[in-house]
Amino acid sequence: MTRKLKNYIGGAWVDSAGTEVIPVHNPATCEVLAECPESTYADVDNAVKAAQAAFEEWRSTPVLSRAQYMYHFKGLLEERFEDIAKVMVQENGKTIDEARGEARRGIESVDFAIGVPLLMRSDGVEDISSGIDETTLRQPAGVFAAITPFNFPMMVPLWFLPTAIVCGNTFIVKPSPQTPLSMELIFELLEELDLPEGVINLVHGGVQASMSVMEHPGIVGVSFVGSSPVAKIVYETCTKHGKRVQAQGGAKNYIAVMPDANMEASVKNIMGAAFGCAGQRCLAAAVAVGVGDAYDTMKNELVRYAQNLKVGYGLDEKSQMGTVISHAARERIETMIQKGVEEGAEVLLDGRKVKIEGYEDGSFVGPTILGDVKPGMQIAKDEVFGPVLSLMKANTFEEAVALINNSRYGNAASIFTNSGKHAREFKYAVKAGNIGVNIGVAAPSASFPFGGQKESFYGDLHGQGMDSIEFFTERKIVIERWT
Ligand code: NAD
Repeated sequence: MTRKLKNYIGGAWVDSAGTEVIPVHNPATCEVLAECPESTYADVDNAVKAAQAAFEEWRSTPVLSRAQYMYHFKGLLEERFEDIAKVMVQENGKTIDEARGEARRGIESVDFAIGVPLLMRSDGVEDISSGIDETTLRQPAGVFAAITPFNFPMMVPLWFLPTAIVCGNTFIVKPSPQTPLSMELIFELLEELDLPEGVINLVHGGVQASMSVMEHPGIVGVSFVGSSPVAKIVYETCTKHGKRVQAQGGAKNYIAVMPDANMEASVKNIMGAAFGCAGQRCLAAAVAVGVGDAYDTMKNELVRYAQNLKVGYGLDEKSQMGTVISHAARERIETMIQKGVEEGAEVLLDGRKVKIEGYEDGSFVGPTILGDVKPGMQIAKDEVFGPVLSLMKANTFEEAVALINNSRYGNAASIFTNSGKHAREFKYAVKAGNIGVNIGVAAPSASFPFGGQKESFYGDLHGQGMDSIEFFTERKIVIERWT
């Protein structure tokens, strides 16, 4: 019988009150790994009550003691590193090496949280007026929650939970119902820390559980990562309910390749950016714009490399690209490729209907490259979230920048060039939150905020870095006189 996942509330594994379940598949083998409950408002309410009950004692636990838990957590994550990576492969379909990379990035966020005692320090001025001192205090704000996507099931929740709790808040994670098993394992490790009951809580589910989180009056702030249409809903719903919110959305990332770029290095980098994690990264390269003569060389080299990529099951160490998340995702991606073809794109490499021996029913889409893509086509405008790279031509650097800035998304953009002048102008003019110069995936490390502009981000304070300290604390100004 298929195992039904439990929520983790107030320090115990408990059944959801919900009767609906969402099957969790291994997208390569189609095996049903577990059933994810669609948690109800009552489940979220229980988690909020547990988190509220834990808050006062937790906030008065010295920040250095709160940080100590993270040293222990980091040790457990290192010990179970391979197990965590394996679970991610099984539920998400990425390759084992990609999963290891994700686990490493997740641990970096724990490292960052260990630094919270330093980062929470505030400032003050003596004698701001005669005999009066003024200081700023940073205090935790209460119960926070994260609603997270399927594509980085371990790393994204860890962008938020460690920093939030070391700041003195209590926390609820609502992971993606497509990939809830990584968080189940992470919570098993968190349980070993012996945190006070209610400091951390896990509530499974989809739309109903998300809505309950957004509407619950006991939650002060929500960190969301997912697609843009949902990010907008989350931003609007949370603000309507008086919460602070950071909502990181989807993307359509462009890469400009200049004629003076080191073509071999650029192409290898673009390959990783476009086809790593089967294109299911919010920082994935979606469109490569070849400027002038760069277009033909870039096109030929990309096709040469991409056709040799080994697609297969992620647990096979030789696989270089895994599956997309589901059959539904595969169908959506194939439909978008077809629409691109109908709108006049040239099929340079077609990954549709790829079959992998031994995994014939898996959700595989092979690397796909479409040439001569034009700005008005759907494939140039909408997020595909699959292993599909569109190629566009620009006559000049300025034309390439205009194509990039025309996008309604603004998550990331990169330039490959040997010109410092063009690199500077690119950083200056391009409207995207993460910029790469000779880097295909401009992924900020844990101590920098994760950029995102236009429809790729709704809110003010981004995830990670000092923004996260601002987001997870309340500032209080104290003005005092002692006579
Ligand atoms: P998604 O928007 O479908 O789901 C994200 C989360 O929201 C899940 O927990 C899901 O259960 C919940 N959800 C879905 N529909 C909802 C609704 N109508 N109301 C309330 N909650 C809802 O995203 P996904 O498919 O899981 O993830 C892929 C998307 O995430 C891509 O668009 C990708 O670009 C984006 N992403 C962005 C970043 C970033 O930092 N900007 C990082 C990773 C992924």
